[in-house]
Order: sequence, then C-alpha cells, then structure tokens
Amino acid sequence: MPNVLVLPGDGIGKEITPEAVKVLEAVLKGRSTSLNFEYGLIGGAAIDEVGKALPDATLAAAQAADAILLGAVGGPKWEILPAQERPELGGLLKIRKALSLYANIRPVKMSPMLVDASTLRPEVVKDVDLVVLRELTGGLYFGEKGRKTNPTSAYDILIYTEEEIRRIVELGFQMAVKRTGRLCSVDKANVLESSRLWREITVEIAKDYPSVDLTHMYVDNAAMQLVLRPNQFDVIVTENMFGDILTDLASMLGGSIGLVPSASLNGKKGLYEPSHGSAPDIAGKNIANPLATILSGALMLRYSFDLEEEAQMIEQAVEAVLAEGYRTPDLAKPGDKVLGTREMGNAIVEALGRN
Ligand code: NAD
Repeated sequence: MPNVLVLPGDGIGKEITPEAVKVLEAVLKGRSTSLNFEYGLIGGAAIDEVGKALPDATLAAAQAADAILLGAVGGPKWEILPAQERPELGGLLKIRKALSLYANIRPVKMSPMLVDASTLRPEVVKDVDLVVLRELTGGLYFGEKGRKTNPTSAYDILIYTEEEIRRIVELGFQMAVKRTGRLCSVDKANVLESSRLWREITVEIAKDYPSVDLTHMYVDNAAMQLVLRPNQFDVIVTENMFGDILTDLASMLGGSIGLVPSASLNGKKGLYEPSHGSAPDIAGKNIANPLATILSGALMLRYSFDLEEEAQMIEQAVEAVLAEGYRTPDLAKPGDKVLGTREMGNAIVEALGRN
C-alpha cells in the first residue's frame, strides 16, 4: 500500500490537512488503491518539539514515502530565529531541496461559481484555466549569496545548468501535449544570460514536440498579460524567481488563494500543499478554507498515483459544493451558506458520496 507522509506544520496547516486526508480516504473507499497515512513534524511545530524545522526523522520518512501532504509552515513565534533556522528556510526549502522536487505545478482554474469573488472583471477571468510550471530547486534562490564591504554590498548569483533547464522545460512540453498544446516559456532573455540559455534549450526541445505551439514571453510582459488577457495562457513554464512571483499573481485569477493547490515533483514522487501560508491571523478558529489542500490531494492522486478518475471526482465534488452556495468565510458573500473548515471537509465527502 503506498505511503503518504502528512506534515500538518503550523497555524491553519493543522486544521486543513485532516480535511484533505478525510476526503482522500472517502474517494478511495471501496476502490483498488488505498493509502497508508503516516504523520510527521515540520516547521515551527518541529522546532518546538525537537529543536529543528526539518527533523532527521521527518526527512527520512519523506524520503521513504511515496508522496507527502503538507499544510503550511511559519508564524510570528519563530520570526526571531536566524533565517536559516526558521520554518520556511530550515523546513520547507530544505525538504524541497533534499527531495530534489524541481518541478512546481500550480493549476489555476476559475470556478464559474466564483467569478464574482475575483478582484478582476468577470469577463477577464471567466474562463481562466492555466497551469504555471515553476523550476523549484535552482536559480537565484539557491545560488551563492553573500555580503561585501567597501563599499557595503550584497550579491545573489543566478545560475542554471543545462540539465536543470532541460528537465523542467521537457515537463512543460509534456503537460502542454496533454492539455491544449500551448506552451509559453517565460524568461528575461533580453537582459539575462541564464535566460538566453533557457531559451536556446527550449527552442531545441521544441523540435521533439511539433504539435506544441511554443511562444516566448519576457517576464515583465507575462505579468501584464496575466491580468490583461489570462485566457491566452495554457501552460506557462519558467524559472524559480519569476515563477515565485507569477504563481502568486496567477493564483488571484482563480478567485482566492484559499483555492489554489500545488504539486512539487521529482518524477512520481511529490509534495502536495496549498499555495497559501499558515495564516496565523485565523488559525485555531475553524474558519480556514481547506479547499486548496483538498485539491492538492487530488493532484497527489493524479501525479503520484495515476488515479485520474479519483482526482477528477474530488475536483467535481468541490465544484458541486460551491455550486450549492457553500463557502468558507474568506469567499462568502451575503446570502451564501457559510461553513467552517471541518464542515467544508464534510460537505466535500458528502458530495463524493452522491456521485
Ligand atoms: P498567508 O498565505 O498565510 O496569509 C495571507 C492572508 O490570506 C491572511 O489574511 C490569511 O488569513 C489568508 N489566508 C491564507 N490562507 C487561507 C485559507 N486557507 N483560508 C482563509 N484565508 C486564508 O501569508 P502570510 O500572512 O504572508 O504568511 C503567514 C506565515 O506563513 C508566515 O510565517 C509565512 O512565512 C508563512 N508562509 C508559509 C508558506 C508555506 O508554508 N508554503 C507560504 C507562504 C507563507
């Protein structure tokens, strides 16, 4: 039986992960595959318990697991620690790097039910259905960094190897083939040498995918186009820092950050987590939106376990519950039926039972 390591983490992470586990168990009930869930510590919770954001036991369990479901890490309590020891750098970035999770996938799909929840005009976001594929273990965030004196200065080195570029861009083409065949590679080739190598390699790989319509876009233009005409995009592939910024921007096209799931992959092995943080401001109140985590569970079924049908069942159950007018407080408008975190999880399980 495949093993899933559940790492609730901090803040609302502890409230939203049980809902995703509940939904995964419900969708797999009576089917040929079932999952074995194990639990571990990460982030501030791990610092408090064992003095380290990524305990050795957690890393060993993550290495042994077939997939990992993570809530979120961080909070004001641990902000006084040196950066490298904090939940984000010492926990999250470390586990991504240790497992070589080089491909971050964030699908953004506007639910017809939530068009009005967007800050953008309905006609702009109405049919948004795109995926941002971000390189996650290279580039500026992992390059050499440091400080110098006389004059006081700081540097971060942006470096990409051919292999790092090739594997993420290949994945972009493969995803485009499975979707509508459009791939937009985002770079800054007019200024950056690393982007020029990125573009050369992308053009070369394109020869193996004649059915894919490849375009290139500078990152500044991509940011503008995402809010101007998001429907032009299907799959976007880009490097780490550009992806960091564009994924947050793109997540707002789906109506709410509480709805955007993510998968970070190295082959079939994946870490699945919502795109938002630990939301300390609302933690412990049973009001956090669990849907991004529940939808991350669907991505787990799709990418780690090849259970496409079950993944779609979860996605359809989420649509159905939203269509019935149920909302967590972050999405609720006057007249909506407001549910707490646990109750939203129950509603998804019930909707699965109806199909
Ligand atoms: P955040 O995403 O936690 O919260 C931003 C805002 O969105 C808050 O008002 C919050 O209440 C709301 N929000 C977020 N998720 C929600 C949900 N599921 N339902 C309802 N509302 C939700 O970002 P932040 O406030 O900048 O960061 C808080 C902490 O989380 C920090 O310590 C930060 O470093 C950490 N963080 C962790 C991750 C991660 O674990 N992947 C990502 C981003 C931030």
